[in-house]
Amino acid sequence: MPIIIDNACCIGCGICVDICPESVIDIDHSNEQGLHELDEIAIVVRKEDCTNCGLCITECPAECIELDNEPSVHQMETEAEKEDLKKDRLGILEKIIKRYVEISISDMCQLLKFEEEIDLKKWLIDLPDHVGFEIRIDTVYISSKLQDDSSEAQKAIDELLKSFSDIEYKSNKKL
Ligand code: SF4
Ligand code: SF4
Repeated sequence: MPIIIDNACCIGCGICVDICPESVIDIDHSNEQGLHELDEIAIVVRKEDCTNCGLCITECPAECIELDNEPSVHQMETEAEKEDLKKDRLGILEKIIKRYVEISISDMCQLLKFEEEIDLKKWLIDLPDHVGFEIRIDTVYISSKLQDDSSEAQKAIDELLKSFSDIEYKSNKKL
């Protein structure tokens, strides 16, 4: 979440420019927009690099910097990536359920793109006994009842997928 600067109250002191560790802000000497009486005002020049550390907001003596609630392009891409990952994982999990009789948790982790096995294990361990998964040591055994073509099997799979989609995901990608 980057910041926005209220040009109308900026006094052009440059404190925000000096304090920003990411060089997000610079002083505009031209005042081309004519929004301020002063020749020098602070402007955001690298919105995408803002880490939302808040230093500029805290240090601005005129209190004219605040958070911009609009998501940045980077953030939107990140959300899109997360959604893509979620969809990928649901499709992969459905294939695992339908095709595997047993699978090691580490292989399952890899296929589902989990960085940490513990994140997948948490979901597996919390599943009720009747769902058709049995976990023994580091292996998941998948009941054949989930693998026939019946509507009951599909319903059970859908419930598993719903439960899976509710958990907090972590990705191998750096999001
Ligand atoms: S919030 Fe931090 S990174 Fe963003 S502009 Fe202010 S000082 Fe720079
Ligand atoms: S610290 Fe505040 S008043 Fe000073 S240049 Fe930055 S935005 Fe303007």
